[in-house]
Amino acid sequence: MDLNQLTDEVIAGRPVTEDEALAILRLPDAETYALVAAAGRVRRHHFGTMMKVNYLVNLKSGLCPEDCFYCSQRLGSEADVLKYRWLSNQEAVAAAKAGIAGGAKRVCLVASGRGPSDRDVKKVSEIIDEIKADHPDVEICACLGQLKEGQPEALAAVGADAYNHNLNTAQSHYDRVCTTHTFKDRTQTIQHARAHGLSACSGLIAGMGESDGQLVEVAFALRDLGADSVPVNFLMPFDGTPLAGHAELTPLKCLRILAMIRFVHPDRDVRVAAGREQHLRSLQALSLEICNSLFLGDYLTSEGQAGKADLQMITDCGFTVAGQAQAAGDIDVRPVIRQRGPGTLEPANA
Ligand code: SF4
Repeated sequence: MDLNQLTDEVIAGRPVTEDEALAILRLPDAETYALVAAAGRVRRHHFGTMMKVNYLVNLKSGLCPEDCFYCSQRLGSEADVLKYRWLSNQEAVAAAKAGIAGGAKRVCLVASGRGPSDRDVKKVSEIIDEIKADHPDVEICACLGQLKEGQPEALAAVGADAYNHNLNTAQSHYDRVCTTHTFKDRTQTIQHARAHGLSACSGLIAGMGESDGQLVEVAFALRDLGADSVPVNFLMPFDGTPLAGHAELTPLKCLRILAMIRFVHPDRDVRVAAGREQHLRSLQALSLEICNSLFLGDYLTSEGQAGKADLQMITDCGFTVAGQAQAAGDIDVRPVIRQRGPGTLEPANA
């Protein structure tokens, strides 16, 4: 494979083939730095030096009736993570504003569970309304599970910009990571959200025993679905979940996965997401040359690198934060949630 020629063609608008995507994944370690540079050309062509920072607000944590094998919030999970029912609107808005002050251009409002009730959607709509009132330029992405009739319309009507529902893995691997819902359930929710004007955010989790071919399969499924934003997670194998102890990724393999996603989705937001610290380790900063987006600070149920260190890494690499980060001081991006100790089970507060 001639990487330079492939890069020129992708920049000119020629979609990569599945064979080319597979060849990218299978490049030897020694050629991975050249691959990062090639993916960087694609990234810079479409996004320049801009880095879009996303910020997660976990509205409701744990206590999920679904059994996704990778998830610390799954039914019966023994993982030591925060478990709480809905944050109050005030807590949620305060958390979102802390992320925005840290430079977030997009706030992701997330709730565990199979899908929201209409009452849940109303509550999230109120939160969106409050955030948008003060920050109309900040994008809001809701992530609430499978949507029913009327729900995407309600979210769009209040100003939600996007809906997240990850495919997570290939259709051919799906029954190895979940038994309580299907791959098709997931694609339908994304299509449903898109049909009502919400931008589709959907991504994957690498490192769950899938083959290289299955990584390519999910990358193309996401392209076929029209995902505008593709978060790439690396499995964090929580104790107390069926995938505990899985450790099949190396930092260089993670970079090849990110680069493959960049070539398949050249002009879409490609986000280096959960697991970047654990799996990329000392190569973490190289992921910014491929991805034009990251999550600031913590993930849903685990702590990430401190928000301040993320912003420093972006600046050190010569990139510019798309949002409006406050310039100085320690950025405490989860002031509300950190007040809750690990493993706390709290009553519904709304
Ligand atoms: S991924 Fe979502 S639906 Fe699956 S167990 Fe976790 S919170 Fe529940």
